[in-house]
Amino acid sequence: MSHSVSINLSSPTGNFWIDNGLVTLYCEFGEGDYDSDYILEKLTEKLVLKTGNTAKYFDQKKKEIVEYEKVNWKYPTNQFIKVPGKSGEKVKIDGETYPTQPPVFDLNLSLSKTPGVCDICGIKAPVTDAKMWMFPFVVDPSKFGNFYSGSKRGFKLCARCALAGLAGYIGWLWKAQGSMLHFFVFHSDLVTMERLHREVFLPLRAEGEKGGNTPRLPFWGSYIHETTLGLLLSLFSYISNPKDVPEDTSKCLASLFKVDSVSFSPPSFITLYAVTGIMGQAFSMKSVKEITKLHSLYRLYEKWANELEQREFHNPSRQIAWIFRQFVSRQGNKEETLWRDKIAWAILDFADPFPFLETFIFDVRAKGKPPKPLVMGTLDMFNVYLREVLGMDEQFQRILAGFGYALGKTAKKHGEMGLLYALRNAKKPEEFYRVLNDAQFRLEMTIPEALLRIEKGERIFGVPWVRVKTLLAIYAMNSYLRENAKQEKDSPTSEKEE
Ligand SMILES: [Zn+2]
Repeated sequence: MSHSVSINLSSPTGNFWIDNGLVTLYCEFGEGDYDSDYILEKLTEKLVLKTGNTAKYFDQKKKEIVEYEKVNWKYPTNQFIKVPGKSGEKVKIDGETYPTQPPVFDLNLSLSKTPGVCDICGIKAPVTDAKMWMFPFVVDPSKFGNFYSGSKRGFKLCARCALAGLAGYIGWLWKAQGSMLHFFVFHSDLVTMERLHREVFLPLRAEGEKGGNTPRLPFWGSYIHETTLGLLLSLFSYISNPKDVPEDTSKCLASLFKVDSVSFSPPSFITLYAVTGIMGQAFSMKSVKEITKLHSLYRLYEKWANELEQREFHNPSRQIAWIFRQFVSRQGNKEETLWRDKIAWAILDFADPFPFLETFIFDVRAKGKPPKPLVMGTLDMFNVYLREVLGMDEQFQRILAGFGYALGKTAKKHGEMGLLYALRNAKKPEEFYRVLNDAQFRLEMTIPEALLRIEKGERIFGVPWVRVKTLLAIYAMNSYLRENAKQEKDSPTSEKEE
C-alpha cells in the first residue's frame, strides 16, 4: 500500500540521521508530494550496483537460459541493508538449478493498517518497525538507547521518516580504513544542511571510491577522532585556500564555521556526528561522537595558521596537516595511529594533549631509527593551544621553552639523555626538583627562578606542576633530538651515503 509523502525543508525532526535523509530527499527529488513506492524504487536504484560478475537465469517465456549482470547493495551500504534480492521460483534444467528471473532488489515499508505514532517525528500515521536499512542505530539498544526512546517496545517510523532514513545512506559522508567504517553527518537546520550538501559535499564528494566519499582528507586512520579531525581540517583548509574549490563552496564553509568579525552575527548552530564501527557480516557500532564546538575549532585553526604564517611556512594548512600526520608509529609494515587519535581527541574536546605529545616524543620519536625531532612548527602550533585553550601565561611559556631548549642541547653535548628520561618520569614535585638539581650540577645550568617557586596546590607559576614538567620534558627532548639530527647530518658517514 502506498502513501503520499511530503518532501520539504520546513519540517525537521531533530534527529540528525533522519534530517540528513530529508535533505537528501529534497536534493534528489525536489519539494513536493510523492508516492512512497515511487521514492522507494528510485532510492533503491541508487543504492544497488553492478558487481562486475555475471550469472544465469531461466527465462520462462523464451524457454532459454539467459546471462545477466549481477547487482548487489552498494558498499558500504551492504553493511546496513541486508535484504536479499528475490529471484522467483527455481527450475531444474539438465541437472542444474536456475532462478527464473534476475534477483529483484526491492525494499518494502510494510506500513501498519492502523495508525501509530512515529518515534522520530511524532505524527500519527501508519508506521513500520524500524530496520537497519532505515536507521543505522537499530543495532544495539542497550548501548545506543539514548538515540531512540521507546526502544524496548521496538522503534516505529512513519513512511516519511523511513524513506528519509534510507536516503541517509546516499547523503552521508563515509570513510573506510581496513575493516573500520567511519561515517559523518553535519546537523543543523534543514536549509543550512541543504546548502552544505549542494555547495560543499556535491562538488567535493569522491564518488565510486572504495575508501570513502568524503572530500579529500589530509590523513585518516582506524580511529574516530583522528579521522574526524582530518575531515574538519580538510573543510577548514578550503576557507583559507579558497582557490582550491569553487567560490561558493569556500563561501558556504566560511559562513558555517567562521564567526563574522565585522557584524558579529552569530553563525548557524551546527553539530558534527561521527560514528565508527567494524564491518563484517553487518555493521557493529563502536562509538558515536558529537562535536559541537565547531566555531571554536575553526578559530583555533585560524590562530594556528596565523602563527605558522608568521614563522614563514609557505602553506600553513599543509603544514598543519603534516604536523598531525607525524603522530604515528611503525610496527612492522603496519602504521599505528593511536597517538594521533589521542591527540585529536584532546583537541576536539579542548582537553590537554600534552601528556600524549610527551609520550609520543619519548617513546616513538626518541626510540625511532633514526631518532627524529618533531616536525617543524609542531611546538609553535601547540604553544598556541597552550595559551589559547589551556590559558597558559605567554611569558612563563617562553621561559619554559627557552630553558627546555637549553637543557636538551646541553644534555646532548654531555651525552645525558638519561636525565631527560628522569625528568619525564618524575611523579612528584620532589622528584622533579631533584632532576632540576642534577641538571644544575651535572650540566652546570642555571634554573630559571620562575620554576623554583612552588605554590599552594603544587602549582608552579599558577600551573599544575605536572604540566610544567611535561612541557619542559617535551621542549628538552625535542631540542636534544634536533641537535642529534644536526650532528648526524654533519657526520662524514652520512655525507658519504648521500
Ligand atoms: Zn515520522
